[in-house]
Amino acid sequence: MTDQSDTAKPAAPVYPRMAVIGGGLIGSSVIRAARANGAAGEIAVADANPAHRERLVELGIAELVTADPAEAAIGADLVVLAVPVLAMGEAAAAAAPGMKAGATLSDVGSVKGAVAEAMAANAPEGVFVIPGHPVAGTEQSGPDAGFPSLFENRWIILTPQKRADAAYRGALERLTEFWLRLGSRVELMDERHHDLVLAVTSHLPHLIAYNIVGTAADLEEVTQGEVMKYSAGGFRDFTRIAASDPIMWRDVFLTNRDAVLEILGRFTEDLQALSRAIRWGEGEKLQQLFTRTRAIRLGIVAAGQESAEPNFGRDRRG
Ligand code: NAP
Repeated sequence: MTDQSDTAKPAAPVYPRMAVIGGGLIGSSVIRAARANGAAGEIAVADANPAHRERLVELGIAELVTADPAEAAIGADLVVLAVPVLAMGEAAAAAAPGMKAGATLSDVGSVKGAVAEAMAANAPEGVFVIPGHPVAGTEQSGPDAGFPSLFENRWIILTPQKRADAAYRGALERLTEFWLRLGSRVELMDERHHDLVLAVTSHLPHLIAYNIVGTAADLEEVTQGEVMKYSAGGFRDFTRIAASDPIMWRDVFLTNRDAVLEILGRFTEDLQALSRAIRWGEGEKLQQLFTRTRAIRLGIVAAGQESAEPNFGRDRRG
């Protein structure tokens, strides 16, 4: 009989000590996922919100909960910034005094160009700065919204600095290993390219959702009652997206302005073309577009990034 004890032994943590600054939806999910997968040993979390700190203590997911990012960062091999995009520079500066040389400073911000600059400007000497963005989330916020499987089978996009030294490459390999351990798929990308791609796939859809829900709320001839009552259709999906965190999304649009405006320009042109097709009764044009977009949806399902179930599987989840 073969001895199974070796295979049963859990793998050593990728980072013996990790600090997360901002223990909300994403930060607490990183902690939960790292714990569940043994990717980090001791975990410290710093959060500016006293109610969130109290909740983090109650949840018992970290060894240390503190208001002070520097205290959380002491001895950490990995520090992950998980605060709103415009707070990243301040969070990096606050963690810096506690960070040791050789540690990695990363983040989960939805915009990469502005965040990479803010992190580089505030990181201490000898720390490896590797910005990152897990393309996973929900419309909720705070420590209770997090869950350990959030990153499973989802992409994490890392936007490393343009340096080729072995030490930095080693730090990048280690961070890649960390995210793989959490069940993510890892992609490396230039930060400007990231911001353009995400402007299409995430930022513009949120802007459209905020706009359509705002428009519906303003329409005088449709009462609020009717908007709610008939929201079983497409509108309901927009309201879910439009319920996303206002501060997070304010920051995304302020820091990814150029890419969002460029994509918005293209979108507006395409919308004009659609409106012309409707005005002139060009059914074939409409049908062609809708057929093409349906195929895109099927492609996303085939790539394992969405449920093929009707109504996104919500009915079954109850
Ligand atoms: P969240 O649930 O609101 O959590 C952020 C936490 O950080 C809150 O407890 C917040 O306190 C705290 N905080 C704010 N500024 C701080 C500072 N300077 N120092 C320490 N703590 C601070 O937000 P989230 O949804 O996790 O988003 C965090 C980051 O992840 C953002 O950069 C966002 O772009 C990115 N992201 C989000 C999603 C998503 O779906 N939500 C997906 C991918 C990436 P207060 O509540 O008092 O502000």
